Amino acid sequence: MSSSVLDFIATEARFGAHNYEPIGVVLSRGEGVSVWDTEGNRYLDCLSAYSAVSQGHCHPKILAALVEQAHRLTLTSRAFHNDQLALFYEEIAALTGSHKVLPMNSGAEAVESAIKSVRKWGYEVKGVPDGQAEIIVCANNFHGRTLGIVSFSTDPETRTHFGPFAPGFRIIPFGDAAALEDAITPNTVAFLVEPIQGEAGVVIPPAGYFTKVRQLCTANNVMLVLDEIQTGLGRTGKLLAEQHEGIEADVTLLGKALSGGFYPVSAVLSNNDVLGTLRPGQHGSTFGGNPLACAVARAAMRVLVEEGMIENAARQGARFLEGLKGIRANTIREVRGRGLMLAVELHPEAGGARRYCEALQGKGILAKDTHEYTIRIAPPLVITSDQVDWALERLATTLTQDFS
Ligand SMILES: *Cc1c(COP(=O)(O)O)cnc(C)c1O
Repeated sequence: MSSSVLDFIATEARFGAHNYEPIGVVLSRGEGVSVWDTEGNRYLDCLSAYSAVSQGHCHPKILAALVEQAHRLTLTSRAFHNDQLALFYEEIAALTGSHKVLPMNSGAEAVESAIKSVRKWGYEVKGVPDGQAEIIVCANNFHGRTLGIVSFSTDPETRTHFGPFAPGFRIIPFGDAAALEDAITPNTVAFLVEPIQGEAGVVIPPAGYFTKVRQLCTANNVMLVLDEIQTGLGRTGKLLAEQHEGIEADVTLLGKALSGGFYPVSAVLSNNDVLGTLRPGQHGSTFGGNPLACAVARAAMRVLVEEGMIENAARQGARFLEGLKGIRANTIREVRGRGLMLAVELHPEAGGARRYCEALQGKGILAKDTHEYTIRIAPPLVITSDQVDWALERLATTLTQDFS
């Protein structure tokens, strides 16, 4: 590494809070599936900023929408109307089949907003006694980093010394419908769950799980809140991951790819009266629903559909998964995925996923380890067959490599 690269890394370490441990590469440019470091080395991005740049880096049409809108009007606050919000509502509602929309910025804010909304719905519509609302969540969940959200995390790293925590959450195992049935009480207002647990290492629930979950929620008047911040907008080869299960959530959360990586944009979508309980002054955000965010999100949704990225995710995801399954390496414990949300879980004896991610960096692939033994693979949805095959070749040589 050149001295300037080390300078960037050292300066970050000197001034920044050390809440991340990045791979040792300093990126300065991106286009489509590729990113370049400060020394001009090119990489295939197999993380896509945790699925936020699904449309590919610096997509020209989203860029044009951003620049055009930035010249006209960027922020009004919700104290006034702007000429982008209505169009954003109309288009996201049409795309997802939702009736009501609440625009926010980060994914965590969308989750927080959903928690507030389903509690309010519980008190004002379902008739739960005030202060008694319960929300059921799953073990090994990832819904963000705010205090309210880490209150129901099961990962000690994200909780230790951040308490006291918010009450009102019950934790059950993921993929276990009987556990949900047992946990529901008359005070249960919602079940908040990821269709596929992303940060837990791309954990896909057993077939039929969500059909049962949907039945239980309907039968008990419990709102099913699907956190599709990572799985949504084409990542799994369908617009929403719920479509693989043949169900519809009551509340759907989107974020990440909603802006194609240009800008933080998230949304709470509901197909019933959950969002209808919010009255003026009860919830808000200075930046939520701003015209720049709306213009960017509108372009991000448009290119996703117009350029066939969802179908491509299904096609290339199947090719990638098949290729990964064909790699004969005794380091591999399991390969899994849906669409372009893929993971290779290594045997503990292989010595940790991080060293493989660093070896992949040397071969021109950027991927990120998760939970020590898993390599997550989630390239932009615009990846081609040739690029998938190129990546598979390098993954095969790396995974069969002996580090000892
Ligand atoms: C990334 C993510 C979030 C949090 O989004 P932020 O924008 O980082 O706040 C919430 N839920 C899921 C499933 C995610 O993947």
